Amino acid sequence: MGFDLDRFAEPVDPDLKCKLCSKVLEEPLSTPCGHVFCAGCLLPWAVQRRLCPLQCQPISAKELHQVLPLRSLIQKLEIKCDYSPRGCGRTVRLHQLAAHVEMCDYSPARCRHKGCPEVLSLKDVDAHMRESCELTFGALIQVLRIFMSRIKMINSRLIGNNILSVLGT
Ligand SMILES: [Zn+2]
Ligand SMILES: [Zn+2]
Ligand SMILES: [Zn+2]
Ligand SMILES: [Zn+2]
Repeated sequence: MGFDLDRFAEPVDPDLKCKLCSKVLEEPLSTPCGHVFCAGCLLPWAVQRRLCPLQCQPISAKELHQVLPLRSLIQKLEIKCDYSPRGCGRTVRLHQLAAHVEMCDYSPARCRHKGCPEVLSLKDVDAHMRESCELTFGALIQVLRIFMSRIKMINSRLIGNNILSVLGT
């Protein structure tokens, strides 16, 4: 499957689109008859149907080959970050996308406090852990204090009951 058209900064040349998925070619492979599709789109045709998807001639997986100039043309297109729906405004060349996505400020990241269920953007994790995480050290002490005072209360009630029952007999 290719790259969604709406992820590209500028309108994409129709020649760079795959006729099977109608998206921008991902790992373009050419048939012996000269037709180009994404590797992921074309391989099932070559392996199972053994036919060019445009019905022009029989093909086998061995006959498919990469089209390097086309591939490098596509790699130079400007594409929006995978995390643009999460707020990243960066646009990078396709060949830089994987490296950017790996360290993108907006990639989803878990809070590093054990037991905290929060999933944040990478850039917000430190501030969350410092300021708003419910599992900060301060918050833990607070929980512990409440817990201790409950135990004291229960204890004193138990002692009180014992005294009463002793007095009652
Ligand atoms: Zn495709
Ligand atoms: Zn063909
Ligand atoms: Zn990004
Ligand atoms: Zn947290």
